[in-house]
Amino acid sequence: HVGFVAEVIRRETVGSYFAPREASVHKHKAGDVLVVAGSPGKLGASLLTARAAMRAGAGLVTIGTWPEAATSLESRVVEVMTTRIDPNRIGPSLDAALAGRRTVAIGPGFGLGPEARAAVDHVVLGWDGFKVVDADAITHFAGRPESLAQAKGRLVLTPHPGELGRLLGRSATAIEQDRFGAVREAVQRTNATVILKGARTIIATPEGRLFICMAGNPALATAGSGDVLTGLIAAFACSMSADEAACAGVLVHALAGDLWRARTGCDRGLFAGEIPDLVPQILAALA
Ligand code: AMP
Ligand code: MG
Repeated sequence: HVGFVAEVIRRETVGSYFAPREASVHKHKAGDVLVVAGSPGKLGASLLTARAAMRAGAGLVTIGTWPEAATSLESRVVEVMTTRIDPNRIGPSLDAALAGRRTVAIGPGFGLGPEARAAVDHVVLGWDGFKVVDADAITHFAGRPESLAQAKGRLVLTPHPGELGRLLGRSATAIEQDRFGAVREAVQRTNATVILKGARTIIATPEGRLFICMAGNPALATAGSGDVLTGLIAAFACSMSADEAACAGVLVHALAGDLWRARTGCDRGLFAGEIPDLVPQILAALA
């Protein structure tokens, strides 16, 4: 495609999105994130998103998930809280979980069954705050991206090519053949900010801006890597606009991969669970 002009996401620009931490800050002011994610067999996804949000500076992070998943999580996590989504009272239990939250990250490992679908509709379409919509929560809207245009509140979608293909009703290969065209079409049909992940992640906004990330390396191509990105964006959106948080999340995630490669000399072998731990050093260097 000739004619698409993408702005490179610059460190200096993203650095300017971070205000110095106020001495008088308290945990609620630092950002209160709800992570709606995880299901039996896929609990790790919810933990990756939650840990990323904490390392990115959120003051409080809660995982909202199914009762059996919450019970196993409680034996594994210390700083992250859990709240139960009651499959028989999905709306009321989610409303209780959403009360007072600044931002929501929804989708990683959450499942595609009827209960997960009801929960995704309730949060993504019905809650009026900022949401990062990822993974199963994107796939829930496969073939009907226009439903997302009815959502209350601001949305950032974080599909990989397979998820964007499902959303728009075509193959991942077709998406990869025209990444700019696909991401712009997704924005037009959903009215959300859309991040198309992969080497050279691109971001398109409803205002018509287009960004490209030149940082990052193949070390980031590892299971759970995208779940970490989702948590970063949810945390950053506590104190930034949706588009700023999208650009900041993508750049910080990519630079964490580059820090790993610089430290180890290797562009493979990174665990997704190690990416959050690299984030504070990246944030310090951006400030
Ligand atoms: P997911 O497929 O949801 O786990 O997301 C993968 C994450 O890793 C996204 O943030 C991608 O942009 C990033 N990623 C995957 N492959 C590469 C690559 N070859 N180079 C740079 N980043 C990558
Ligand atoms: Mg993913």
